[in-house]
Amino acid sequence: MIRKILIANRGEIAVRIVRACNEMGITAVAVYTDADRHALHVKKADEAYNIGPESVAGYLNVHRLVNLAVATGCDALHPGYGFLSENPTLAEICRARGIKFIGPTAEVIRRMGDKTRAREAMIKAGIPVVPGSDGNLDSLDDARRVADKIGYPVMLKATSGGGGRGIRRCDSPQELENSFARVTSEAIKAFGSADVFLEKAIVNPRHIEVQVLADEHGNVIHLFERDCSIQRRHQKLIEIAPSPQLDEELRQTIGEYAARAADVVGYTNAGTVEFLLADDGNVYFMEMNTRLQVEHTVTEQITGIDIVKRQIHIANGELLGIAQEDVSRRGFAMQFRINAEDPKNDFLPSFGVVTRYYAPGGPGVRTDGAIYTGYEIPPYYDSLCVKLTVWALTWPEVLDRAARALSDIGVYGVRTTIPYYREMLTTDEFRSGSFNTAFVEAHPELLEYSTKRRRQELSVAIAAAIAGHLGF
Ligand code: ADP
Ligand code: ADP
Ligand code: MG
Repeated sequence: MIRKILIANRGEIAVRIVRACNEMGITAVAVYTDADRHALHVKKADEAYNIGPESVAGYLNVHRLVNLAVATGCDALHPGYGFLSENPTLAEICRARGIKFIGPTAEVIRRMGDKTRAREAMIKAGIPVVPGSDGNLDSLDDARRVADKIGYPVMLKATSGGGGRGIRRCDSPQELENSFARVTSEAIKAFGSADVFLEKAIVNPRHIEVQVLADEHGNVIHLFERDCSIQRRHQKLIEIAPSPQLDEELRQTIGEYAARAADVVGYTNAGTVEFLLADDGNVYFMEMNTRLQVEHTVTEQITGIDIVKRQIHIANGELLGIAQEDVSRRGFAMQFRINAEDPKNDFLPSFGVVTRYYAPGGPGVRTDGAIYTGYEIPPYYDSLCVKLTVWALTWPEVLDRAARALSDIGVYGVRTTIPYYREMLTTDEFRSGSFNTAFVEAHPELLEYSTKRRRQELSVAIAAAIAGHLGF
């Protein structure tokens, strides 16, 4: 029985996991670095332990975290996302020390974390993959040969990549030559492996991914898809469930592919299978994320299933207890990643003190945040400070609710992506529900909001002040 969990993470996801523990009567143990001593997850957890100085090192120290889990009497460890969540060594060491790792086995993490091995497994299972190289590339010459065969444009990708890094589109042999050394060295630095491979670049694709849950007794279900096409530099900004761009037939096909993918690799716990949907309606497997995802909230809102609690039940050895036909969905949910970044200044991180924070409310509004009034966002970590998730029965209603919630929320003292999202919601293209991964790059004018908006807001404020002064 899992009674006490060490949460090897920080920020909003650590808070999210504490909340699940609270509801289940499980003791939540937080860890924090010096920079995080005033963080919300530390305040919310039942116990909290310092794991070292400022910087990320503490959250990446496998042995220290597992030792702490053992020493504090935890029986499980939740890795969240990012940091060590896809590190097979952590899963292995947990197993060796008698701590249940809340995620799949080390073997599955290793296999699916290697994008070329994952592709091979999918090809064997009869799931379409993006046309590309057979395994890793040996050399630039090898890359040129493969690219000539599959045709430009191509995507050069780090085999162990993640978080939108280590990916470059190459439109010509010249670009491939220029990018090869760069992506290889980037891959070594960021992921500790120089392995790269090639895929055909799908032009203007939609990013569609499917949430799966698998217990330790061979039962696998999917919880429908999320549309994560609104991205900047291969990083997601807005996620939507279900996708407004799929018909029922395609929805079913993609869901079946995802469940089959999880099944053939012996997947356990929660995971996500990512696909690209091309203009011609073809779908291709892209990669699998062997962890909880940032955007799991939208799936929770449409299905009513608490994914984090399910993860803990599964890790506890329990049966899923839900058959595929019992998974239902209702309405639309949309999540906005509110990052402390200045959209007007190339999304430069904007750290510092949150002088005032007001969380929005009302029907169908959910926030998963890590900030509070007076909190200082440290410069060492992710710029994600709040996830705003809205739900409504219909697509037009979820758009209106999103606009309302984005005008309701207040984050002051740091710059955020909120005004950018407000602007995006006014465009016909976004509202039509038909967009692809090029949307953000294709609409630089949305970044021009502030002068226009601010002038409007200023004139409204001046008019109000004058009216007040005159006693209206
Ligand atoms: P999701 O797939 O859940 O949408 P992201 O790709 O945005 O998640 O990644 C979530 C967080 O984890 C981000 O902060 C990202 O920087 C980090 N991350 C994801 N993959 C890796 C990785 N392989 N190495 C380091 N950080 C990663
Ligand atoms: P990561 O592990 O960093 O999440 P992914 O392989 O999931 O990397 O790709 C991230 C994003 O890059 C996708 O969501 C998509 O927008 C883009 N992308 C990846 N592969 C392709 C491709 N073959 N063609 C077009 N876009 C792609
Ligand atoms: Mg991905």
